[in-house]
Amino acid sequence: MSTEFLTTSPDQTQKLGENLAKDILMAKPLKKAKIVGLVGDLGGGKTTFLQGFAKGLGIKEKILSPTFIIIRRINLAYRQAGNFYHIDCYRIKDSGELLSLGFEKIISNPKNIVVVEWADRIRKILPKETIWLNFKFINAKTRKIVLE
Ligand code: ADP
Ligand code: MG
Repeated sequence: MSTEFLTTSPDQTQKLGENLAKDILMAKPLKKAKIVGLVGDLGGGKTTFLQGFAKGLGIKEKILSPTFIIIRRINLAYRQAGNFYHIDCYRIKDSGELLSLGFEKIISNPKNIVVVEWADRIRKILPKETIWLNFKFINAKTRKIVLE
């Protein structure tokens, strides 16, 4: 089962992110972190989506495409000992590289919320509960976002 969204502006894509973040905050806790995997075209809107997602989590810091940073952590004060992790696998060669950066520990804390850009590069170490989103570039203003 998958759900498709067509957005015709960056704002609409951000709004989708904001709504998903709010849903995740309301969802019942699992044994592991909440993980969202973003895949798809360059310029497809993954970082744009994440900006809205961070807003939905109440984060004030600006979310950028982390060119050199692989893992960025932002504390979620209201979620006792929980953090938001923005992980960008664009520069990652394989899953092992992320494991060596402490990925297992990050996803073992049920209070954490983790969003991974270019998540297909580490697919084999992502739990089956991962929420997958695929971003497709349709034209200058239109993106198709498929939620699995
Ligand atoms: P990615 O992280 O997938 O490479 P970005 O979010 O960094 O993509 O870039 C998307 C670019 O496309 C931004 O410059 C954004 O302003 C533009 N854009 C135009 N229309 C949309 C839309 N409907 N949704 C998301 N981004 C859009
Ligand atoms: Mg990006």
